[in-house]
Amino acid sequence: MKILVVEDEAKTGDYLRQGLAEAGFVVDLARNGTDGLHLALSERDAGYDLLILDVMLPGLDGWQVLQGVRQAGHEEPVLFLTARDHVDDRVHGLEMGADDYLVKPFVFSELLARVRSLLRRGSKSRDAEFLRAADLELDLLRRRVTRSGRRIDLTAKEFALLELLLRRQGEVLPRSLIASQVWDMNFDSDTNVIEVAVRRLRAKVDDAFEPKLIRTVRGMGYVLEAGEGAAGVPDRGA
Ligand code: CA
Repeated sequence: MKILVVEDEAKTGDYLRQGLAEAGFVVDLARNGTDGLHLALSERDAGYDLLILDVMLPGLDGWQVLQGVRQAGHEEPVLFLTARDHVDDRVHGLEMGADDYLVKPFVFSELLARVRSLLRRGSKSRDAEFLRAADLELDLLRRRVTRSGRRIDLTAKEFALLELLLRRQGEVLPRSLIASQVWDMNFDSDTNVIEVAVRRLRAKVDDAFEPKLIRTVRGMGYVLEAGEGAAGVPDRGA
């Protein structure tokens, strides 16, 4: 799941980015309202799953960012951060379409609880909290993966990679797309970072199980599929 943080205080922004990344989220950070709104509106695919907006920002303030986002028809949940503990501010923010409010300073566990609660509320049904293929299950909110009921421990990057493969099951994903979506950057074509990560992920979710779910499509990328196409194919590539 992808979260946009718009926060001009360097320390708070870095703290949020790091903490949320360690909790398994993919995080973009903008340091002012103008960049924040631009990112929120230009994010491709399904957009962000959640926005975390500071109220007092250079450029556009948090409310103006929210206004721009809602005017463009985006409905992702928004959590406001503010140092100002004034009832008026809260009412104003909620009237404008914010979903929750957190007053600074806050402890990270509180923020994480609010984030999970908003994401849960935002998901259409309880089923949207899980991604599945065969007996593999990924719990988006608790950041847990099981296969055949057995708990599998993944790093944050492995989790993000598996989430991407599961969301786009049956689709061959090029390395460049995986690089931009999971590592949030472009890699030189000779890097083997993705190959290594896929190998590690397979060792955890496929090696001890049948059917094998993750396949290499030589020269193209990777695909995860549990359908007839994957079952009973002994050679799934290198
Ligand atoms: Ca601020």
